[in-house]
This record gives sequence, C-alpha cells and structure tokens, in this order.
Amino acid sequence: MIQTHILGFPRVGLQRELKFALERHWRGELGAEELEATGRALRRRHWEQQRDAGLGFLTVGDFAYYDQVAHHIQLFGCEPSRFGFQGSEPSLERYFTMARGVAPASAHPHDEACGCSSTGTHALEMTKWFDTNYHYLVPEFEPGTRFALAPERLLGELGEAQAMGRPVKPVLVGPLTFLWLGKAKAEGFDRLALLDELLPLYVDLLTRLAAAGVQWVQLDEPILGLDLPPEWARAFEPAYQCLAAVDVSILLTTYFAPLRDHLSLACRLPVAGLHVDAVRAPDELPAVLDALPPDRELSVGILDGRNIWRADLDAALAAVRPALERRSGRLWLAPSCSLLHVPLSLREDAALDPDLRSWVAGATEKLAELQVLKQALLKGDAAVAGELAHARAALAARRGSPCVKNAAVAQRLARLPSNADHRAGAFPQRQRLQRDRLKLPPLPATTIGSFPQTPSIRAARAAHKRGELSAEGYREAMQQEIARAVAAQEALGLDVLVHGEAERNDMVEYFAELLQGYAFSANGWVQSYGSRCVKPPLLFGDVSRPAPMTVGWARHAQSLTKRPMKGMLTGPITMLQWSFVRDDQPRADTALQLALAVRDEVQDLEAAGIAIIQVDEPALREGLPLRRAEWPAYLAWASRAFRVATSGVRDDTQIHTHMCYAEFNDILPAIASLDADVITIETSRSDMELLRGFGDFRYPNEIGPGVYDIHSPRVPGRAEMLRLLRKAAEVVPADRLWVNPDCGLKTRAWPETTAALREMVLAAKQLRDELAL
Ligand code: GLN
Ligand code: ZN
Repeated sequence: MIQTHILGFPRVGLQRELKFALERHWRGELGAEELEATGRALRRRHWEQQRDAGLGFLTVGDFAYYDQVAHHIQLFGCEPSRFGFQGSEPSLERYFTMARGVAPASAHPHDEACGCSSTGTHALEMTKWFDTNYHYLVPEFEPGTRFALAPERLLGELGEAQAMGRPVKPVLVGPLTFLWLGKAKAEGFDRLALLDELLPLYVDLLTRLAAAGVQWVQLDEPILGLDLPPEWARAFEPAYQCLAAVDVSILLTTYFAPLRDHLSLACRLPVAGLHVDAVRAPDELPAVLDALPPDRELSVGILDGRNIWRADLDAALAAVRPALERRSGRLWLAPSCSLLHVPLSLREDAALDPDLRSWVAGATEKLAELQVLKQALLKGDAAVAGELAHARAALAARRGSPCVKNAAVAQRLARLPSNADHRAGAFPQRQRLQRDRLKLPPLPATTIGSFPQTPSIRAARAAHKRGELSAEGYREAMQQEIARAVAAQEALGLDVLVHGEAERNDMVEYFAELLQGYAFSANGWVQSYGSRCVKPPLLFGDVSRPAPMTVGWARHAQSLTKRPMKGMLTGPITMLQWSFVRDDQPRADTALQLALAVRDEVQDLEAAGIAIIQVDEPALREGLPLRRAEWPAYLAWASRAFRVATSGVRDDTQIHTHMCYAEFNDILPAIASLDADVITIETSRSDMELLRGFGDFRYPNEIGPGVYDIHSPRVPGRAEMLRLLRKAAEVVPADRLWVNPDCGLKTRAWPETTAALREMVLAAKQLRDELAL
C-alpha cells in the first residue's frame, strides 16, 4: 500500500486572508465569531485541496491563528500564571494576550479594582522554529507549572475535517519537543522534570482522538535531528512506551536534519510509523530501511518542504523505489516537513514570468507532485507519462536556461585570486591609516543605517509603484528624505552619518531587485509569525550586478555633509538566508556569487569617495546548521563570502558590519574571522552580557555595542546609556569602542528617534570626558 500525506499546510490563504482578518480583529473591527469563521473557511478550503489531490489523510491541528505552539500551550493548559487569567476569559482572548502581551494600563482609567498592572504584561517570547524563518511562541515552564487538557478546539477542528468524509490525521507537537521548545523560568529548573506530568495528558488526548474515530496521530519530534543532552535522548523510549498504551497508531515525524546518533533510537521507538526527511538527509534512508522493524510504516519525506522548486520526479522515484521494494510495497510518501514554509501556490503567480512559473512549486503544486509519484509507483511511469514529461521538460528548461547560467559569473569565480578574501594590511595597520583619514573623536557616535520609514516615504513609494509618481519625482522625494536625515544627524552631533535608507523597502528586496538572477512573486507569502508574512525573493540564477546599486544615493548623501557618510549594504549571507535560493548548486556557491556582487558595490562606493562602508549580516548566525558538527564548514564558507565581499578595498577604507537578533558568543571566532574593522551588535537587551564574550575572547577589532533597544518607542535616559557604556568599557578597551543603538531605526518615529539619539550623543561625550580620552 502506498499512502500519501502531508505534515502540515500553509494557513494564511493566498491573499493573506487570515492576516487581514486577524488585524481587523485586533483593531476591534471584526468579532471573534467572524474571525473563527474565516479560520474555518480557510481550513475547509485547504482540506478540500488535500482531498482533491487524493491524499490518504486530511491533516488536522496544523492550523493556528497565531502559532501552533501557542495552541499547544492552551491544549495542555499551561498558560503562564503571570498573565493572571481567571479562566473565564474566552480562550481566543487569552491566546492573543499570550501572543501579543497587554499594553500598559495607561490606555484605560486605572484603579485598584481593575487589577491590571500599570506596566503591562509582556507577550510570550518568540523564537525561530529550528532553522526556519518561522517564529513560535516560547512556552514557559517552572516548578509550579501544572497541565490540564483543553482539547475542545482540536476536537472541534477534527469534527470539521471528519465531516468531509475522509480519514483524518491530527498532528501534535510531541511531548519531548514541546518541553524542549519551552524555556525554564526558574533558575536551574530542568523542564524535562515535567515530562511525567505531561505524559498522562498526551495519553488522555490520544484516547479521546481514538474515541473520535481517529486511527493515525502524527507526533512531531524534530528535536531528534538536534544534538541532544543524553538525558533527553534517554527520555524518548519510556515516554513513547507510555503513549503506546493507547489504541491509536502514532506516526512519529522527524525533519530538518539527519538523525545520525538518534537514528537507531527513532527506529526502535514503540510507534506505528516513522517519518524521515529524505531531502535534508537523503543518505540516511538506507540505514533507516535497515533499522526500522518491518511492522512499522515508513514515511519518506521526498519533496522539499522548505524550498519552492518543482521536484525532479525521476530522481524522487529512483530514491524511493528501493525503499518500496525493501518494504514489500508498503510506503508512505510526503513532503520533507510541513508545507508551512513555502507559499501556498506559485504556479499561477502573476508576477513570475511563464518560464519561471513552470519551474516552481508551492504547497498546492507539491500536493499534485505527491500524487504523480504515487501513481508512478503503483501503476508504473507510463500511467503518468504526461505529468512526468512535463516535469522533465521544466527541469531541462531550467537547467539549460540562459537566465540561470551566466558564463561570465562562472569565469569570474574560476579566476578569483586566492587573496580575494583578505585585506591587504593587517588590522593594526588599517586602524592607523583609517584614524589618520577619518579623524574621528574617541567613542565615535553613529547609527546602524535606517531612519524612520515615515508615512510620506511609504506614500511616495506606493505612488511610484502605481505609476503615479515618475522615477524622477520619486528620486527627488527620496533625496529630500535623505537630506532631512543628514540634517538631523548633524544637528544631533553624530560623528559618522548614514543616509537613512529611505529608498529601501526592505534590506534584501532592495538589492535583489537590482541584481540579475533574482525574481519576485506576487503572492509568494510565507508566515513569519502571527499575522506577519514575508515574501522572500527567488534567487533562481547566477547572480551578477549589472550596475551600481547604492552609489548615487551615497554620493548625494555625502555631498550634504563634511562628516563621513557610511555606505550601507546587505551582506551575502543575509541575502542568501532571506531568499528562496536555488537547489541546483551548493549554498556556498550561491553565497560566493552574491559576495562578488557586493564586492563590486563596495569598490564602487570606495571609488566614489565613501570612506566607511557597512555590510550588514544580521542573518549570519541563523544560517548555522542544526548539528554542531556541521558548524565549522558553514562558518568557513560564510565568513569567506563576507571577506570576499569586503576585502577589495584600500587599507584606509573602513569596513563595518552589523549583527542582531541572536546570541553570538558561540561563534565569536568566526565573527572575528570576518575581519571587519568595526562591528556593531545588539547588546542592550542582554545588558551588555553579550559583550562579555567579546571581552573574554579578546575580540581584536573595534566594537559598537548597542546602548539602547530600538524595538520600543521608549526614550532611554542618558544615565542608562552611560551605565551600559561604562560596562562596555570594562570589557573592551575604550579606544576601540563605538557608541550606537542596537539596530536600525526604520520602525521608529522621528520624535523619539531624535530624543534618544540626543541623549546617546551626550552619553558618549560624557564618557569621553570621564575617561579623559
Ligand atoms: N542597516 C539596516 C538598518 O539599519 C540593518 C537592519 C538589520 O540589522 N536587520 O535597518
Ligand atoms: Zn540589526
């Protein structure tokens, strides 16, 4: 028997219906009932697609109004007590409170009796779901955490799906992954200690699902693809023994990484089926076939659930046929992971050119691919000859397309001199030359790049896009915005200025639009968190830079001031991480092509007289493989790409980089190996703790630790910033310190921006005096 299924499906809808319904609901314009109706309609539509595609199951439980982990927090009744829920509030209201927090009470007349805190309650923390760009809400665990099953929502959705008359497979985050994803709120508390309390609820839930007529339940345990502490790995067998008591078949799913040292564990667990990611770990399939007992079902994740390319169906068939044979014709086929990470559909996308459209596959198209695979395996290739021929033709067209292959790029890479990835002089020499040239005061004050994206900037961009504002008119409008930002910075007394990035819609899209090898979809939305969706550009071909991308803006900005103006670029790794990239060459090769394009821009900025050039790499860390053993290889090619991008300049040109949103202490050697003259990093939220790592490691170059958090409109006081700066000066010699905010200011408004920067500049001056620099 061949079964097809999916691990999960996109939820927001092709036109982002869920996003707009959510936002209207939060503004008070759409009632909870109507929001639920939108959710129901979307679920139904997506199940109809699964049914029409002939899948063996409809998958239930993957839908979420904000995030599926947050739904599990309610399902298992472990909403943190700090929210002060009475239990009488509607569940959806509690859910959005956890997801979005409670604003400070100033908004309503506040008295003793209202019981709400005047400081508000912050939302659950959000963090990346494994190595994806999806963010989940982090469960909070403490010794007092108690669980109580609240299965109504899940059972309700189950009923909706069952009404469609097909077998239904609910999906749950497995107990160990659920605990792993949470965070211990008490010092030294081991959240694994909660497992014994949690397991009976899983048993109870599985029992109820079985009673509702469910045969298969999918339990996601992707942590089996991580380096786990031994006690976590050891906890799997007893936990699953306990679940095995229920008369329901469990499909245990793993994805995103090879199983490696957990392979035999995964194959031995007392479950009815195992799903493995044969896209991320194609070489493990034979070992899984050897280790998995014959009475278990094997689900092979054969279609890439993380990328948008149409599958090579012949290759997929060749990969699964031996498995089918070994397992005497019994096999399940699926995408590698939930399809949440790809757009709902791309085949009809109006913005893609017809060739490209035929090369890609969104979630909808992947459902169809699954069916073709199934038919080919059941009835032979001839039964689906037409579909296979189409897929082959598209693949051949893609491989042979002159838009994909650019001989000049290949030649350039082949001839890249061996010294292209390092600067001419060593840092001490560069530092001397840069100091002579730039003549900056000690503790130079600067910002990270963007200034507020005001309504007038957005309006001008929208008008330009609609064709109502000419290219010339748009350029003038942006130049005025730049002039405003420059004047504001001069008035504030900042030492190194930025042009403010008014002309950039997004730090990746802006460059992608100006590079060859990139395309853009109209509806290729992917959920990032809650109602927030991103539309990653599609990097489909060899990358090259036909013309300078920022030089005109930078030259204009520099002409308005005598102070140094930083050129501002997005680095190759961030371009790579935040795009859908090609699967027909290693990521390292694509990164290097991007690096060459950035390198050209860096050199052109230098030639235009720009003395300081910042190359942002906020996504460097998130590119890290899930397994530590693979970190060195990634860090080697990623840092080389950065150096290739930035090493083509003279010693007296100063290269900056910027990083944020992450812990960096465990990759400090790699960060140092970037050999940027200055790094600015987000540190204020961790109270400079991050910087301690840089101090201990003796980070050799200059550092600008962020002295204030830009994520809130709050204006920090001078004393606060001084305290952080003094703390920084304890671990980094003051003559290597810069003063700057945590990150760019694009999400802020002008009044708070100038107020905060004024204090920041004064804090820098005061510390200069104190240290008598
Ligand atoms: N230069 C960018 C900005 O200031 C950096 C953004 C980022 O780090 N994410 O907005
Ligand atoms: Zn940043």
